[in-house]
Amino acid sequence: MPTKHNPITGNQIVERLGVRPIINAGGPNTMHSGSRPRREALDAMLAMSEVFVNMDELLIAAGEEIASLVGAEAATVTSGASGGLVIQAAAAVSRGDAGIIGRLPDTDGLPNELVIQKPHRFVYDHLYLTPGTRFVEAGDAAGCATEQLEAAISARTAGVIHLESPFKNRGTVPLWQAAEIAHSHGLPLLADAASMLPPRENLRKFTSKGADLVSFSGGKAVRGPQSTGFLVGKKEWVEFARLVNAPHATIARAQKVSKEEVAGLLAALRAFVDEDETAETARYRRDMQSVVDRLAEVPGVAMSLEHNYDHYIPHAVITLTDSWRGPDGPEIARRLMAGEQRVYVVSGYLGDREIWVDPLNIQPGELEIVAARVHEELIKGAAGG
Ligand SMILES: *Cc1c(COP(=O)(O)O)cnc(C)c1O
Repeated sequence: MPTKHNPITGNQIVERLGVRPIINAGGPNTMHSGSRPRREALDAMLAMSEVFVNMDELLIAAGEEIASLVGAEAATVTSGASGGLVIQAAAAVSRGDAGIIGRLPDTDGLPNELVIQKPHRFVYDHLYLTPGTRFVEAGDAAGCATEQLEAAISARTAGVIHLESPFKNRGTVPLWQAAEIAHSHGLPLLADAASMLPPRENLRKFTSKGADLVSFSGGKAVRGPQSTGFLVGKKEWVEFARLVNAPHATIARAQKVSKEEVAGLLAALRAFVDEDETAETARYRRDMQSVVDRLAEVPGVAMSLEHNYDHYIPHAVITLTDSWRGPDGPEIARRLMAGEQRVYVVSGYLGDREIWVDPLNIQPGELEIVAARVHEELIKGAAGG
Protein backbone atom coordinates (compact mmCIF):
# COMPACT_ATOMS: atom_id res chain seq x y z
CA MET A 1 0.00 0.00 0.00
CA PRO A 2 1.20 3.53 -0.70
CA THR A 3 1.81 5.42 2.55
CA LYS A 4 2.17 9.07 3.45
CA HIS A 5 5.93 8.59 3.14
CA ASN A 6 5.70 6.92 -0.17
CA PRO A 7 3.31 7.31 -3.06
CA ILE A 8 4.43 4.05 -4.73
CA THR A 9 4.60 0.45 -3.59
CA GLY A 10 7.50 -1.99 -3.71
CA ASN A 11 5.46 -4.26 -5.94
CA GLN A 12 5.08 -1.46 -8.48
CA ILE A 13 8.86 -1.02 -8.58
CA VAL A 14 9.69 -4.67 -9.11
CA GLU A 15 6.88 -5.08 -11.61
CA ARG A 16 8.23 -2.20 -13.69
CA LEU A 17 11.67 -3.79 -13.62
CA GLY A 18 10.36 -7.25 -14.37
CA VAL A 19 11.91 -8.66 -11.18
CA ARG A 20 9.78 -11.24 -9.40
CA PRO A 21 9.62 -10.77 -5.61
CA ILE A 22 10.12 -13.65 -3.16
CA ILE A 23 8.73 -14.59 0.21
CA ASN A 24 11.89 -14.78 2.28
CA ALA A 25 11.75 -17.78 4.63
CA GLY A 26 15.50 -18.32 4.38
CA GLY A 27 16.84 -15.61 6.66
CA PRO A 28 18.76 -12.39 6.16
CA ASN A 29 21.35 -13.31 3.56
CA THR A 30 22.55 -10.61 1.22
CA MET A 31 21.75 -12.40 -2.06
CA HIS A 32 18.12 -12.57 -0.96
CA SER A 33 18.19 -8.90 0.01
CA GLY A 34 18.93 -9.08 3.72
CA SER A 35 16.22 -8.17 6.18
CA ARG A 36 13.41 -5.64 6.23
CA PRO A 37 14.66 -2.31 7.60
CA ARG A 38 12.69 -1.21 10.67
CA ARG A 39 10.26 1.65 10.32
CA GLU A 40 12.38 3.59 12.81
CA ALA A 41 15.41 3.18 10.53
CA LEU A 42 13.60 4.36 7.42
CA ASP A 43 12.14 7.38 9.25
CA ALA A 44 15.59 8.30 10.59
CA MET A 45 17.12 8.05 7.10
CA LEU A 46 14.54 10.37 5.63
CA ALA A 47 15.00 12.83 8.50
CA MET A 48 18.79 12.73 8.23
CA SER A 49 18.60 13.63 4.54
CA GLU A 50 17.54 17.14 5.60
CA VAL A 51 20.86 18.08 7.23
CA PHE A 52 24.56 18.28 6.38
CA VAL A 53 27.29 17.42 8.84
CA ASN A 54 31.03 16.80 9.07
CA MET A 55 31.28 13.02 8.67
CA ASP A 56 34.14 12.59 11.17
CA GLU A 57 32.04 14.35 13.80
CA LEU A 58 28.97 12.28 12.95
CA LEU A 59 30.83 8.97 12.95
CA ILE A 60 32.56 9.68 16.28
CA ALA A 61 29.26 10.63 17.91
CA ALA A 62 27.48 7.63 16.33
CA GLY A 63 30.21 5.34 17.64
CA GLU A 64 29.75 6.73 21.14
CA GLU A 65 26.00 6.17 20.95
CA ILE A 66 26.44 2.58 19.75
CA ALA A 67 28.97 1.92 22.53
CA SER A 68 26.56 3.15 25.20
CA LEU A 69 23.63 1.24 23.63
CA VAL A 70 25.46 -2.08 23.61
CA GLY A 71 27.63 -1.60 26.69
CA ALA A 72 31.01 -1.58 24.92
CA GLU A 73 34.06 0.57 25.59
CA ALA A 74 33.88 1.96 22.05
CA ALA A 75 32.25 1.36 18.67
CA THR A 76 32.25 2.59 15.07
CA VAL A 77 30.06 2.22 11.98
CA THR A 78 31.19 0.07 9.03
CA SER A 79 29.82 -0.88 5.63
CA GLY A 80 28.35 -4.23 6.62
CA ALA A 81 30.14 -6.66 8.87
CA SER A 82 32.34 -7.40 5.84
CA GLY A 83 33.56 -3.82 5.78
CA GLY A 84 34.41 -4.32 9.43
CA LEU A 85 36.69 -7.24 8.57
CA VAL A 86 38.72 -5.12 6.13
CA ILE A 87 39.00 -2.41 8.75
CA GLN A 88 40.02 -4.83 11.51
CA ALA A 89 42.91 -6.16 9.44
CA ALA A 90 43.97 -2.69 8.30
CA ALA A 91 43.87 -1.47 11.92
CA ALA A 92 46.01 -4.41 13.05
CA VAL A 93 48.70 -3.59 10.48
CA SER A 94 48.64 0.21 10.81
CA ARG A 95 47.85 0.76 14.52
CA GLY A 96 46.98 4.38 13.82
CA ASP A 97 50.24 5.18 11.97
CA ALA A 98 49.34 7.71 9.28
CA GLY A 99 52.25 6.69 7.06
CA ILE A 100 51.20 3.05 7.06
CA ILE A 101 47.52 3.90 6.62
CA GLY A 102 48.53 5.92 3.55
CA ARG A 103 50.38 3.09 1.83
CA LEU A 104 48.14 0.10 2.46
CA PRO A 105 47.74 -2.42 0.78
CA ASP A 106 51.53 -2.18 0.53
CA THR A 107 52.68 -3.99 3.68
CA ASP A 108 56.32 -4.57 2.65
CA GLY A 109 58.52 -5.02 5.69
CA LEU A 110 55.62 -4.82 8.14
CA PRO A 111 54.11 -7.60 10.25
CA ASN A 112 51.30 -8.56 7.87
CA GLU A 113 50.26 -12.08 8.88
CA LEU A 114 46.90 -12.90 10.38
CA VAL A 115 46.67 -16.15 12.29
CA ILE A 116 43.40 -18.01 11.73
CA GLN A 117 42.30 -21.37 13.09
CA LYS A 118 41.71 -23.65 10.12
CA PRO A 119 38.10 -24.54 11.09
CA HIS A 120 37.38 -20.79 11.17
CA ARG A 121 38.12 -20.39 7.44
CA PHE A 122 34.87 -19.26 5.84
CA VAL A 123 33.35 -17.83 2.71
CA TYR A 124 33.95 -14.15 3.58
CA ASP A 125 37.39 -14.46 5.14
CA HIS A 126 39.26 -13.02 2.12
CA LEU A 127 37.96 -9.61 3.23
CA TYR A 128 40.61 -9.88 5.94
CA LEU A 129 43.25 -9.99 3.18
CA THR A 130 42.28 -6.71 1.51
CA PRO A 131 44.95 -4.55 3.19
CA GLY A 132 47.88 -6.62 1.90
CA THR A 133 47.72 -9.20 4.66
CA ARG A 134 48.06 -12.98 4.44
CA PHE A 135 46.73 -15.88 6.49
CA VAL A 136 48.75 -18.29 8.56
CA GLU A 137 46.53 -21.25 9.36
CA ALA A 138 46.67 -22.97 12.75
CA GLY A 139 45.44 -26.53 13.25
CA ASP A 140 43.61 -28.55 10.61
CA ALA A 141 40.06 -29.04 9.37
CA ALA A 142 39.23 -31.20 12.41
CA GLY A 143 40.24 -28.60 14.98
CA CYS A 144 42.94 -26.47 16.54
CA ALA A 145 44.68 -26.85 19.90
CA THR A 146 46.08 -23.99 21.97
CA GLU A 147 49.68 -25.07 21.23
CA GLN A 148 48.95 -24.99 17.49
CA LEU A 149 47.54 -21.49 17.74
CA GLU A 150 50.51 -20.39 19.82
CA ALA A 151 52.97 -21.95 17.34
CA ALA A 152 51.48 -20.07 14.38
CA ILE A 153 52.34 -16.70 15.93
CA SER A 154 55.67 -15.07 15.00
CA ALA A 155 57.32 -11.65 14.67
CA ARG A 156 55.45 -11.29 11.36
CA THR A 157 52.01 -11.63 12.99
CA ALA A 158 49.73 -8.57 13.00
CA GLY A 159 46.68 -10.11 14.65
CA VAL A 160 44.71 -13.22 15.55
CA ILE A 161 41.32 -13.82 13.93
CA HIS A 162 38.35 -15.48 15.61
CA LEU A 163 35.08 -16.44 13.94
CA GLU A 164 31.80 -16.76 15.81
CA SER A 165 29.36 -18.24 13.32
CA PRO A 166 26.98 -21.20 13.10
CA PHE A 167 28.71 -24.58 12.65
CA LYS A 168 32.18 -23.05 12.98
CA ASN A 169 33.41 -23.28 16.54
CA ARG A 170 33.81 -27.02 17.11
CA GLY A 171 37.18 -28.26 18.28
CA THR A 172 38.74 -24.82 18.24
CA VAL A 173 40.41 -22.64 20.84
CA PRO A 174 37.66 -20.66 22.61
CA LEU A 175 37.60 -16.91 22.19
CA TRP A 176 38.74 -16.04 25.72
CA GLN A 177 41.79 -18.27 25.35
CA ALA A 178 42.64 -17.07 21.85
CA ALA A 179 42.45 -13.51 23.23
CA GLU A 180 44.82 -14.39 26.08
CA ILE A 181 47.29 -15.91 23.62
CA ALA A 182 47.05 -12.90 21.27
CA HIS A 183 47.48 -10.44 24.13
CA SER A 184 50.49 -12.28 25.53
CA HIS A 185 52.20 -11.43 22.21
CA GLY A 186 50.95 -7.83 22.18
CA LEU A 187 48.49 -8.66 19.36
CA PRO A 188 44.80 -7.83 18.90
CA LEU A 189 42.08 -10.49 18.83
CA LEU A 190 39.90 -9.68 15.81
CA ALA A 191 36.46 -11.29 15.83
CA ASP A 192 33.77 -11.72 13.21
CA ALA A 193 30.38 -12.25 14.87
CA ALA A 194 28.41 -10.81 11.95
CA SER A 195 25.30 -12.92 12.28
CA MET A 196 25.29 -13.74 16.00
CA LEU A 197 22.36 -11.48 16.92
CA PRO A 198 20.04 -12.35 18.62
CA PRO A 199 20.74 -13.17 21.40
CA ARG A 200 21.29 -9.53 22.32
CA GLU A 201 23.67 -10.56 25.11
CA ASN A 202 26.19 -11.28 22.32
CA LEU A 203 26.56 -7.53 21.80
CA ARG A 204 28.65 -7.57 25.00
CA LYS A 205 29.77 -11.17 25.23
CA PHE A 206 32.71 -11.32 22.83
CA THR A 207 34.32 -8.09 24.02
CA SER A 208 33.87 -9.16 27.63
CA LYS A 209 35.74 -12.37 26.78
CA GLY A 210 38.68 -10.34 25.50
CA ALA A 211 38.13 -9.53 21.81
CA ASP A 212 39.65 -6.17 20.82
CA LEU A 213 37.38 -5.65 17.80
CA VAL A 214 34.13 -7.48 17.01
CA SER A 215 32.27 -7.07 13.73
CA PHE A 216 28.45 -7.25 13.59
CA SER A 217 26.01 -6.81 10.71
CA GLY A 218 23.52 -3.96 10.85
CA GLY A 219 21.50 -5.44 8.00
CA LYS A 220 20.61 -8.83 9.47
CA ALA A 221 18.41 -9.19 12.58
CA VAL A 222 19.21 -5.65 13.76
CA ARG A 223 17.23 -4.60 10.67
CA GLY A 224 19.10 -1.43 9.90
CA PRO A 225 20.12 -0.45 6.37
CA GLN A 226 21.39 -3.56 4.54
CA SER A 227 24.73 -1.92 3.80
CA THR A 228 25.60 -1.18 7.42
CA GLY A 229 27.53 -2.88 10.17
CA PHE A 230 29.42 -1.89 13.28
CA LEU A 231 32.56 -2.72 15.19
CA VAL A 232 32.59 -2.81 18.98
CA GLY A 233 35.70 -3.15 21.10
CA LYS A 234 38.51 -1.52 23.02
CA LYS A 235 38.85 2.23 22.74
CA GLU A 236 42.34 2.18 21.28
CA TRP A 237 41.52 -0.41 18.62
CA VAL A 238 38.24 1.18 17.63
CA GLU A 239 40.12 4.45 17.08
CA PHE A 240 42.73 2.66 14.90
CA ALA A 241 39.78 1.16 12.98
CA ARG A 242 38.04 4.51 12.53
CA LEU A 243 41.23 6.11 11.20
CA VAL A 244 41.60 3.56 8.37
CA ASN A 245 37.88 3.62 7.51
CA ALA A 246 35.92 5.70 5.01
CA PRO A 247 35.31 8.59 4.52
CA HIS A 248 39.08 9.03 4.77
CA ALA A 249 41.14 8.57 1.61
CA THR A 250 42.31 5.10 2.67
CA ILE A 251 42.06 1.55 1.45
CA ALA A 252 38.47 1.58 2.76
CA ARG A 253 37.34 4.69 0.90
CA ALA A 254 35.06 2.50 -1.26
CA GLN A 255 33.27 1.35 1.91
CA LYS A 256 31.53 4.65 2.54
CA VAL A 257 28.38 4.73 4.66
CA SER A 258 26.09 7.73 4.12
CA LYS A 259 24.84 9.97 6.91
CA GLU A 260 21.35 8.59 6.25
CA GLU A 261 22.60 5.03 6.68
CA VAL A 262 24.41 5.98 9.89
CA ALA A 263 21.19 7.48 11.29
CA GLY A 264 19.20 4.44 10.11
CA LEU A 265 21.58 2.05 11.82
CA LEU A 266 21.41 3.96 15.11
CA ALA A 267 17.60 3.97 15.06
CA ALA A 268 17.45 0.28 14.21
CA LEU A 269 19.96 -0.68 16.86
CA ARG A 270 18.12 1.29 19.52
CA ALA A 271 14.86 -0.46 18.58
CA PHE A 272 16.62 -3.83 18.47
CA VAL A 273 18.14 -3.39 21.93
CA ASP A 274 14.78 -2.23 23.36
CA GLU A 275 12.83 -5.16 21.97
CA ASP A 276 11.55 -7.85 24.36
CA GLU A 277 13.65 -10.84 23.35
CA THR A 278 11.60 -13.34 25.36
CA ALA A 279 8.42 -12.33 23.52
CA GLU A 280 10.26 -12.26 20.18
CA THR A 281 11.65 -15.77 20.71
CA ALA A 282 8.24 -17.07 21.81
CA ARG A 283 6.71 -15.68 18.60
CA TYR A 284 9.41 -17.30 16.44
CA ARG A 285 8.97 -20.60 18.26
CA ARG A 286 5.21 -20.57 17.87
CA ASP A 287 5.47 -19.79 14.14
CA MET A 288 8.13 -22.41 13.48
CA GLN A 289 6.29 -25.01 15.55
CA SER A 290 3.26 -24.49 13.31
CA VAL A 291 5.46 -25.28 10.28
CA VAL A 292 6.85 -28.36 12.06
CA ASP A 293 3.33 -29.58 12.87
CA ARG A 294 2.05 -28.91 9.37
CA LEU A 295 4.83 -30.91 7.68
CA ALA A 296 5.14 -33.76 10.20
CA GLU A 297 2.76 -35.98 8.23
CA VAL A 298 4.89 -35.97 5.06
CA PRO A 299 6.29 -39.50 4.57
CA GLY A 300 10.08 -39.77 4.72
CA VAL A 301 10.81 -36.48 6.49
CA ALA A 302 11.65 -35.76 10.13
CA MET A 303 10.70 -32.35 11.48
CA SER A 304 12.35 -30.47 14.34
CA LEU A 305 12.41 -27.05 15.90
CA GLU A 306 16.02 -25.98 16.43
CA HIS A 307 17.16 -23.10 18.63
CA ASN A 308 20.81 -23.23 19.64
CA TYR A 309 24.25 -21.77 18.80
CA ASP A 310 23.93 -22.92 15.17
CA HIS A 311 20.31 -21.82 14.77
CA TYR A 312 20.48 -18.62 16.79
CA ILE A 313 16.89 -17.79 15.79
CA PRO A 314 14.38 -20.67 16.18
CA HIS A 315 14.21 -22.57 12.86
CA ALA A 316 11.91 -25.26 11.48
CA VAL A 317 14.29 -27.93 10.17
CA ILE A 318 13.13 -30.51 7.63
CA THR A 319 15.39 -33.58 7.47
CA LEU A 320 15.04 -35.96 4.53
CA THR A 321 15.42 -39.38 6.19
CA ASP A 322 16.72 -42.67 4.78
CA SER A 323 13.20 -43.57 3.73
CA TRP A 324 12.79 -40.37 1.67
CA ARG A 325 12.48 -41.21 -2.03
CA GLY A 326 12.09 -37.74 -3.50
CA PRO A 327 14.60 -35.14 -4.77
CA ASP A 328 17.31 -33.71 -2.49
CA GLY A 329 16.94 -30.55 -0.40
CA PRO A 330 18.51 -28.07 -2.86
CA GLU A 331 16.17 -29.34 -5.60
CA ILE A 332 13.12 -28.83 -3.32
CA ALA A 333 14.43 -25.32 -2.56
CA ARG A 334 14.87 -24.65 -6.30
CA ARG A 335 11.28 -25.74 -7.00
CA LEU A 336 10.01 -23.44 -4.24
CA MET A 337 11.78 -20.52 -5.93
CA ALA A 338 10.40 -21.50 -9.35
CA GLY A 339 6.71 -21.45 -8.34
CA GLU A 340 4.20 -18.75 -9.15
CA GLN A 341 4.62 -17.44 -5.58
CA ARG A 342 8.36 -17.81 -5.07
CA VAL A 343 9.41 -18.99 -1.60
CA TYR A 344 13.05 -18.85 -0.51
CA VAL A 345 14.24 -21.47 2.01
CA VAL A 346 17.80 -22.61 2.74
CA SER A 347 19.18 -26.01 1.75
CA GLY A 348 22.66 -27.28 0.99
CA TYR A 349 24.47 -25.43 3.76
CA LEU A 350 24.98 -28.65 5.73
CA GLY A 351 24.71 -31.23 2.97
CA ASP A 352 21.62 -31.83 0.88
CA ARG A 353 19.36 -33.64 3.39
CA GLU A 354 18.25 -30.59 5.36
CA ILE A 355 15.92 -27.70 4.54
CA TRP A 356 15.67 -24.75 6.91
CA VAL A 357 12.82 -22.32 7.43
CA ASP A 358 13.85 -19.06 9.16
CA PRO A 359 11.15 -16.79 10.62
CA LEU A 360 13.03 -13.47 10.63
CA ASN A 361 11.81 -12.13 7.27
CA ILE A 362 8.40 -13.82 7.13
CA GLN A 363 5.79 -11.04 7.03
CA PRO A 364 2.27 -11.21 8.48
CA GLY A 365 0.11 -13.47 6.32
CA GLU A 366 3.08 -15.20 4.67
CA LEU A 367 3.64 -18.03 7.15
CA GLU A 368 0.62 -19.94 5.89
CA ILE A 369 1.80 -19.58 2.27
CA VAL A 370 5.29 -20.79 3.19
CA ALA A 371 3.95 -23.86 5.03
CA ALA A 372 1.50 -24.66 2.23
CA ARG A 373 4.10 -24.35 -0.57
CA VAL A 374 6.72 -26.42 1.26
CA HIS A 375 4.04 -29.01 2.06
CA GLU A 376 2.98 -29.13 -1.59
CA GLU A 377 6.54 -29.64 -2.91
CA LEU A 378 7.37 -32.25 -0.28
CA ILE A 379 4.19 -34.25 -0.97
CA LYS A 380 4.92 -34.08 -4.72
CA GLY A 381 8.53 -35.13 -4.08
CA ALA A 382 7.52 -37.97 -1.76
CA ALA A 383 5.18 -39.29 -4.48
CA GLY A 384 8.14 -39.41 -6.86
CA GLY A 385 7.21 -36.18 -8.66
C1 LIG B 1 26.74 -12.25 7.21
C2 LIG B 1 28.15 -12.48 7.56
C3 LIG B 1 29.14 -11.61 7.10
C4 LIG B 1 28.83 -10.45 6.19
O1 LIG B 1 28.10 -9.48 6.83
P1 LIG B 1 27.54 -8.23 6.00
O2 LIG B 1 26.94 -7.35 7.05
O3 LIG B 1 26.55 -8.77 5.04
O4 LIG B 1 28.70 -7.61 5.32
C5 LIG B 1 30.44 -11.83 7.50
N1 LIG B 1 30.75 -12.87 8.30
C6 LIG B 1 29.82 -13.74 8.75
C7 LIG B 1 30.25 -14.85 9.64
C8 LIG B 1 28.50 -13.58 8.40
O5 LIG B 1 27.57 -14.43 8.84
